[in-house]
Parts: sequence; structure tokens; C-alpha cells
Amino acid sequence: MEANEHYCVKCKAAKVPGDVKADPTPTKNGRTMERGTCPTCGTRTARIR
Ligand SMILES: [Zn+2]
Repeated sequence: MEANEHYCVKCKAAKVPGDVKADPTPTKNGRTMERGTCPTCGTRTARIR
């Protein structure tokens, strides 16, 4: 999986989302979530940074 890819649970594949945004709310362990939309099916994708 490349650095700019998110895993899409619907496609069950790594995709490069078109509209990546950092989530302003950090997770409990202080990580930042990055969110995007799968270019194939439109499902929301996320990745921990
Ligand atoms: Zn998808």
C-alpha cells in the first residue's frame, strides 16, 4: 500500500482518494486520522497518520 492510498472496505482494495483531508479530531492515542472518498464506489475511507 502506497503512502497516498487508503483502504476501501467496500472494494476491499487500496485506493487513492480524491479529496483527502486530515480529521481535526485526534484519536485517543494522539494520532491524526486522514479521511477521503473512494474514487470507485464513493465510500468514505480513512487512514491513520
Ligand atoms: Zn471503494
